[in-house]
Amino acid sequence: MKRLIYRLWRLGGFAALARFLAQRRLKIVLYHGVCPSVEGLFNYRRKFIAPQSFERQITYFTRHYTILPLDEAVMRLYAGKLPPRALAITFDDGYRNNYEYAFPILKKYGVPATVFLATDFVFDNTPLWVDRLEHATAHGSESVYEKKGMDNRMRSEMKTLSEAEKIRRLEAIERKRGAALTDARADVRYAPLEPHMLEEMQKAGIAFGAHTKSHPILSRISLDDARTEITESIDVVKNICTLVSRVFAYPNGQPGDWTNDIEDMLIKHDFDSALTTVEGTNGASAPRMRLKRISMDDTDDWDSFVAAESGLRGILQELKKVWSY
Ligand SMILES: [Zn+2]
Repeated sequence: MKRLIYRLWRLGGFAALARFLAQRRLKIVLYHGVCPSVEGLFNYRRKFIAPQSFERQITYFTRHYTILPLDEAVMRLYAGKLPPRALAITFDDGYRNNYEYAFPILKKYGVPATVFLATDFVFDNTPLWVDRLEHATAHGSESVYEKKGMDNRMRSEMKTLSEAEKIRRLEAIERKRGAALTDARADVRYAPLEPHMLEEMQKAGIAFGAHTKSHPILSRISLDDARTEITESIDVVKNICTLVSRVFAYPNGQPGDWTNDIEDMLIKHDFDSALTTVEGTNGASAPRMRLKRISMDDTDDWDSFVAAESGLRGILQELKKVWSY
């Protein structure tokens, strides 16, 4: 049903109309990564899209939008100087595949992007917890179908736990299944960017920003710990990178994942604005510390991509919320 609506939306010209109506608003798209499709549990949620899909999307953006570096786009948004159909490209977390598969395409089309780094992951080799879970779940005799169900269920449960409890649960799962991803570079599929890659990317106009140290949900840890996560991550990014974004990206980024105190803290630490993962576009009155994005995860299918980029998926999500009240 969803697929049919997406297709009718695109073929009926509604996507073009929606794009026209939103042309004064800033669209910020969010990727996690790009890598070839493989069989098995790895990337079953399609947070990394295929290189062919990514290239097709980037050429589409260059044709239908004015792509700006994120910091410039945000500055222009609030100065009332946004060009029509403005779009900025972001990546979260700092996976190595951003360099291996996305960067050659960004460079080929001369397209700027900003990558938000979870600094313990990128500079200390600490794997992200979702990857540790997927890695441990993949180890076992169940079918891939069963493993997908297990991983999904455990991930949802673990998102409701405190950070400390989440890690305890994760370690228990790893022990039980006899597979623990302790070094993020041990499995190239889950590996982070290397310093020389950052350097090369910056030369081609790719900027880097802070996305905390250990990727916790900031509202679930103490304010002191949140301060450490924020200040130490931006300090590391500033020490290592030359093209540093003044924008911050909240881990997880859904309503309730950060607080007003955290917004104040970011402003005090000289951040210009902050990105959520709340679906939508931004007008000149959008709150600086709550900028919306459009997730490009799971958009290998062209109709899904157009539904996301043109705003239909966001509309349907809103309708679903109203419907469920
Ligand atoms: Zn993230």
